[in-house]
Amino acid sequence: MARLEGKVAIITGAAQGMGAAHAQKFIKEGAKVVLTDLNEEKGQALAAELGENALFIKQNVTSEADWANVVAEAEAAFGPVNVLVNNAGITMAKSILQTTEEEYRRIVDINQVSVFLGMKAIIPSMQKAGGGSIVNISSMNGLVAGAIGYTDTKFAVRGMTKAAAIECAHYGIRVNSVHPGVIATPMIMQEDTKAAVEAFAQHIPLKRVAESEEVSNMVLFLASDDSSYSTGSEFVVDGGMTA
Ligand code: NAD
Repeated sequence: MARLEGKVAIITGAAQGMGAAHAQKFIKEGAKVVLTDLNEEKGQALAAELGENALFIKQNVTSEADWANVVAEAEAAFGPVNVLVNNAGITMAKSILQTTEEEYRRIVDINQVSVFLGMKAIIPSMQKAGGGSIVNISSMNGLVAGAIGYTDTKFAVRGMTKAAAIECAHYGIRVNSVHPGVIATPMIMQEDTKAAVEAFAQHIPLKRVAESEEVSNMVLFLASDDSSYSTGSEFVVDGGMTA
């Protein structure tokens, strides 16, 4: 049997990159999937490709009103939600002195506040569903330091995951974080960054950058009942970078 048969999932930031890969994997495994993103054109096109078990809803993950709308539309289309993947995020590679207050607050809002809002919005739906699994996408920079702003928010996601896991355990809701290393997505594979990323790959113990699907395999495990006794934990997919 498919590993997500009968499950309803919401994946944020699903128009491209890892979120899109998770959506593809979840559909193959029998889930009904709500893809959300700011990028309506790409999100709609992907949902159309994925067929009748996929629905795209435009969302800014920093907006509580958008979260209420996404959960209501997901329930109306497919029923109470079993799985939430808080995947949407941005990166920033500047020093403290280069970073403006506005830029700092923006990355905290998109990478961190969004995860709080997502968990808050989804708990009542998961209670209706009789339980669920929340997968929060952090980073290897939620375990070891990288640039300011990005590191701060990804450490926060790891901490929030643990606090939420304890609080949500008695609702039958599991909460875990995933910590990808260097993954070939549009976030890092831009024309002007691609060569540096490929050179950096030599410093990764497995000597290569990963494909999104290699992270999707971990997200699928956490979303499914295969991980029924895992909660409040961090799951690292980084080719040995933080070993
Ligand atoms: P990506 O940039 O390819 O895709 C991110 C998606 O999020 C985009 O479609 C974008 O439109 C959407 N998004 C951005 N801000 C949003 C907002 N406010 N509301 C709704 N959607 C928004 O990124 P990716 O590489 O696929 O990264 C996915 C997640 O994985 C992020 O949280 C990122 O920090 C994390 N991550 C990435 C890497 C990597 O190497 N690529 C490594 C570790 C962790």
